[in-house]
Amino acid sequence: MELSVDIQALAYLISAVLFILALKGLTHPASARRGNFLGMAGMAIAIAATLMGGEVQSYGFIIAGVAAGALIGGVLAMRVEMTAMPQLVAALHSFVGMAAVLVAIGTYLNKAAAGQLNPVLMGELSAGIIIGAITFSGSVVAFAKLQGLVSGAPVIFKGQHALNALLAILTIGLGIHFGMTESMLSLFIMTALAFILGFTLIIPIGGADMPVIISMLNSYSGWAAAATGFTLHNNLLIIVGALVGFSGAILSFIMCRAMNRSIFNVIFGGFGSDDAGGDSAAAQAVQKGVKSASVEDAIYWMEDANRVIIIPGYGMAVAQAQHALKEMMELLEAKGVEVKFGIHPVAGRMPGHMNVLLAEADIPYENVLEMDEINPEFPTTDVCLVVGANDVVNPAAKTDSSSPIYGMPILDAEKARQVYFLKRSMRPGYSGVDNLLFYQDNTSLIFGDAKDTIEGMVAALKGGGH
Ligand code: NDP
Repeated sequence: MELSVDIQALAYLISAVLFILALKGLTHPASARRGNFLGMAGMAIAIAATLMGGEVQSYGFIIAGVAAGALIGGVLAMRVEMTAMPQLVAALHSFVGMAAVLVAIGTYLNKAAAGQLNPVLMGELSAGIIIGAITFSGSVVAFAKLQGLVSGAPVIFKGQHALNALLAILTIGLGIHFGMTESMLSLFIMTALAFILGFTLIIPIGGADMPVIISMLNSYSGWAAAATGFTLHNNLLIIVGALVGFSGAILSFIMCRAMNRSIFNVIFGGFGSDDAGGDSAAAQAVQKGVKSASVEDAIYWMEDANRVIIIPGYGMAVAQAQHALKEMMELLEAKGVEVKFGIHPVAGRMPGHMNVLLAEADIPYENVLEMDEINPEFPTTDVCLVVGANDVVNPAAKTDSSSPIYGMPILDAEKARQVYFLKRSMRPGYSGVDNLLFYQDNTSLIFGDAKDTIEGMVAALKGGGH
């Protein structure tokens, strides 16, 4: 059955509405599942309407491509760890970038053979190739850094910004030349330079800033898709590209604001090494007078508390401690203790990281509060349990103007009566900055894997405590 142009346009409109509703749904954990479903439905309609639209010459390649893609994507999605999600997203962006480049080059070759090139199309092709190539190589570098295939440390050298500026000017210049002359040589050099530019733009970015960059590359991939939409005269691709382009850009902005950094500072800063300090810090810690505590000490205080605030961080994700935390929350609540979770906007390694994990453990949304909501409650809180978080509670962000995280809004954990840190060593968090809260009088560290420690607490609570 072949769809008429009108029916196809209607199907695309329905898809576009579903995509917008999907984004709306994804703004809250409670509606995220529905949002995902609406997005999938929109995409299914879009694919079906495109395949039935009468422009398809042969279904063989398409079926083979869809089958291979579905198989690889399905296996990857089922096997990927939640902590490895950012690099999976980076890998997927690289595909979008490469697809934009290939579609643009294919269109150029077809239209050139048919003598149908025109200035508007040439402009679209240049834009699609440049943005697509930068997205591709940038995403590959981001993937390699996050996956640990190369060091996550920033690669910085003299004249880097000048080199990037020169590459950008040359690439755009060649894009204009290609648009005006249809020269194959310009196309070739422009494409090569754009690939190099994607690489040189991302290598100076350190591991801690990588999630912001992933979100920016997400935005680029949207613009690459929109350019492809213009090339293929596909309105839905233009709409979806713009949605992805803007939502990625807005997300990057929100993340930068949560870290109190400007997007330019992130792009050009070379901040955030993956070298999170050495174990020798543990020896220094003892000299500095850090107190360590046992599970029993913490339970002693928590059982008698009116309110306990739990601050989860990246370490909770690594340890997968969320289910044990849920059990501990229920045991404490049964003893009349109010338990709340305080979520920092950049806790973990991607936006919403903690919310997703707590939702997975069925921790009720009303127990989970954002930073602005929970901060006023710390001064009247008896125990603050910091589970694998570090940077997001570091008071240096407020007091030490020389600190790289100075100015970042933090959770006011230091104002609670007792603070317990659950971590494995004295190593700092992702920013590599020592945490001043470790040395505060009311702070104790409980060393060990967060899940093991929480399970120990659960056992102690079940055993009747003190
Ligand atoms: P941090 O990276 O500051 O600290 C995580 C802590 O978890 C470490 O100190 C580590 O200590 C501990 N840890 C790791 N594994 C375990 C384990 N198995 N059991 C117990 N503890 C463990 O994390 P935060 O969540 O506090 O902060 C996030 C950081 O990431 C911020 O610097 C933020 O700016 C950055 N970032 C986040 C983004 C986001 O979107 N969420 C985006 C960009 C940047 P130890 O090794 O001693 O166990």
